[in-house]
Amino acid sequence: MTYKKNDVLTVTIEDMGHDGEGIGKTEGYTLFVKDTVIGDVAEVKIMKAKKYYAYARLMKIIKPSPHRVEPVCPVARACGGCQLQMLDYQEQLRFKENKIRNNLQRIGGFTEIPMEPIVGMEYPFRYRNKAQFPVGTDKNGKLITGFYAGRTHQIMENRNCYLGVEENETILNLILSWMEECGVTAYEETTGKGLVRHVLIRYGFTSKEYMVCLVINGKKLPGEEKLIQKLCTVEGMTSISVSINREQTNVIMGNTIRTLWGSSYITDSIGEVQYQISPLSFYQVNPVQTKKLYDLALEYAGLTGEETVWDLYCGIGTISLFLAGKAKKVYGVEIVPDAISDAKRNASLNGIDNAEFFVGKAEEVLPKYYADYAADHPGETAHADVIVVDPPRKGCEESLLETMVQMQPDRIVYVSCDSATLARDLKILCERGYELKRVRGVDQFGMTVHVETVVLMSRADKK
Ligand code: SAH
Repeated sequence: MTYKKNDVLTVTIEDMGHDGEGIGKTEGYTLFVKDTVIGDVAEVKIMKAKKYYAYARLMKIIKPSPHRVEPVCPVARACGGCQLQMLDYQEQLRFKENKIRNNLQRIGGFTEIPMEPIVGMEYPFRYRNKAQFPVGTDKNGKLITGFYAGRTHQIMENRNCYLGVEENETILNLILSWMEECGVTAYEETTGKGLVRHVLIRYGFTSKEYMVCLVINGKKLPGEEKLIQKLCTVEGMTSISVSINREQTNVIMGNTIRTLWGSSYITDSIGEVQYQISPLSFYQVNPVQTKKLYDLALEYAGLTGEETVWDLYCGIGTISLFLAGKAKKVYGVEIVPDAISDAKRNASLNGIDNAEFFVGKAEEVLPKYYADYAADHPGETAHADVIVVDPPRKGCEESLLETMVQMQPDRIVYVSCDSATLARDLKILCERGYELKRVRGVDQFGMTVHVETVVLMSRADKK
């Protein structure tokens, strides 16, 4: 049986896809239905039909899943940010754990997976320390701010995102009232006119410091003093700046930063290590879960103080500095030069002198180090005791994995934000003498479909 566009039918949702969409089957025909969850019985309407599957739209829930909950956010369905708010949190964790397991089985070909229970959040809301709100106008010309509706650049008014801190709303109210009072315009994507594009707010969970950075399409801010006065009423305000972005682009931040008031950065810490964060710095957005993630990476690394450790894709050196206290020497490699400057500054801020950083692609820096070492030390090869990798979604280049294996680390700790590329890379490492020892999911992004995974591999000949 096949279906055609606009057919309406009833289906039971039996599974969920990687993007959180519900999956149901009728007589072998598969239906993908956004906004449904496992266990729902739903009336759906076919939007796009193929031979064996179709995309359908939720019309009516006939019998809700026992795991279905009322989203706390009134715009959850329309907003592009959360995909899983209507699923109870325990079930979200189960979904994420299954996603990791399925990828390791299907893509990695692993049959026995030493999986430990996923590390969930105590309270899966209000966890983000960073928010970027686009500013615009509605059809009546009124200033609005919020989030882009899913897959569009249309701003949905919402100043109270439940993933961010409550104070964001207060800060946005102050900024929009200042814009109204001082006649400051919002940027318009279509014409490239208007001044204020985005508001970036960062909050140090441990330091309780706030940073506000206005991204503007110009150099000057009318009523700058008034803005500062208003923002300084927020307890903990530490840094107020503008980022100048005059390009017609989707990139949010402009590279020129001018501090209007206070410090050019805020400080925050993860565990014992302090980090200075400026508007352009990369920093983990969920500091509470990041601490758990790094503790796990540290545990998997099994350091005694004698080890040489490489931290590939090190960003601002967060993991490197976290491991440095327990290792003899840590080398970090990162492609973004500014991040490496931050890493070096953070090392000296914390009095860490056994970490060294390289700018460049991991797949170029490590092979070059390996070759240079052999040239300088005839008859020897470069060795690492532990290698940690934390690549972006696309995972590691095969050539990098080759060099890692040549350096014969006893242990490889793989931190991944995409379990599909993780599975692909682990398969390669296993074919070259490594064994999968421990796997654990860490939920850094409650209410969304994303999940981090930490994996320990060790050399099969080293028991
Ligand atoms: N480990 C860090 C950051 C991980 S995010 C932390 O926990 O904070 C991944 C990092 O890899 C980013 O900083 C990105 O700039 C960097 N990156 C991307 N491609 C790279 C490559 N080919 N070589 C080295 N670093 C790369």
